[in-house]
Amino acid sequence: MKQFNREAFDEWMVPNYNPAPVIPVKGKGSRVWDSEGKEYVDFAAGIAVNAVGHCHPDVVKALTEQAQRLWHVSNVFTNEPILALAERLVTHTFAEKVFFANSGGEANEAAFKLARKYAHDHFGESKSEIIAFDNAFHGRTLFTVSVGGQPKYTKGFEPLPGGIRHLPFNDVEALEAAVSDNTCAIVMEPVQGEGGIIPADPAFVRKARELADKHNALLVFDEVQTGMGRTGSLFAYQQFGIEPDILTSAKALGGGFPIGAMLTRASIAESFGIGSHGSTYGGNALAGAVGNAVFDIVNQPEVLEGVRAKGERLRELLQPLVDDFDMLDRPRGMGLMMGVPMSDAWQGRAREIMQAALAEGVMLLIAGPNTLRLVPSLLITEEDMVEGVARLRKALESLDAR
Ligand code: PLP
Repeated sequence: MKQFNREAFDEWMVPNYNPAPVIPVKGKGSRVWDSEGKEYVDFAAGIAVNAVGHCHPDVVKALTEQAQRLWHVSNVFTNEPILALAERLVTHTFAEKVFFANSGGEANEAAFKLARKYAHDHFGESKSEIIAFDNAFHGRTLFTVSVGGQPKYTKGFEPLPGGIRHLPFNDVEALEAAVSDNTCAIVMEPVQGEGGIIPADPAFVRKARELADKHNALLVFDEVQTGMGRTGSLFAYQQFGIEPDILTSAKALGGGFPIGAMLTRASIAESFGIGSHGSTYGGNALAGAVGNAVFDIVNQPEVLEGVRAKGERLRELLQPLVDDFDMLDRPRGMGLMMGVPMSDAWQGRAREIMQAALAEGVMLLIAGPNTLRLVPSLLITEEDMVEGVARLRKALESLDAR
């Protein structure tokens, strides 16, 4: 294929992204190579997507076999791979029904619409308020940026959909004061991702469940980033001792192939009657085939236990960097969803570290200006973790020397 450089992006692409200066062309496990042949350790995993690494042989096989058989028939017909994925999701979660979409934003759009529709169907139109939390992120459609509520993503797109209220995250008292019989849904990420890798307090989650029950509201868990093994259980809710009413998944669900899902109970799903919602591609055969292969790798006790162990190990490897440099604070997160906050001296400078790390051969992410985010493949090896952290150390040394 013709070789392109980063300038080509600026020439032809809408300027809503600012991609890194290098262009990745090949990946294997937790290593990636760019178009110049330089190799990287991948702690970014396509923003918590490549849960089983790059080009896992089982997933490549599932994709290529399905590609020879049947790609897409739309939802005018159902297809076997997606039914198999629905069966897996229903068998291994609280849910009884699944709706498939193509992304996290679309899965959430479906979730919020369903929550409204269910409330209208059962309790009337005044029950429409959605309660969400400061610094949340739920996607980029107009409804999902509005529920996310971060001004940097909504500014200039007004008028926004109404009936949405934002509260401080993990504030039990504020939640108790806000939820009422007009609340149709409480929407949360069990670990806020884009907002800085902030885990929900178990007591806060339990209170949300209790208040939702008391006021006939639905508890919606956005597990687009936390789901499919990322935190060390198939879904994060399973570690909080409660069940949501609606759960959304995407990112790792397809391991790099676009797919999203909204899971719920049968009594709630009834409000999405025939024709009420839909998608041309959602749940197509290729996505289903890939999703099944990813699911079967991730949903094994040794893989999920491995995520918890690797998370601990990564924390252990990062701690000396926190101790030796004046830039970072103690890592936080769950499983392999790790945030490393900036120290007081380095407030607002996470991006500089991310860029220096890339130059040293390790891909990582930020979650806002004050947090480095590490969300590697769930199958990352000890060797890759050690090497990635060693490269990050070099990056910190080069910044320190400046
Ligand atoms: N919800 C959460 C918690 C996310 O982290 C993201 C993406 O970062 C989304 C929703 C949106 O997903 P997508 O970009 O696939 O639409």
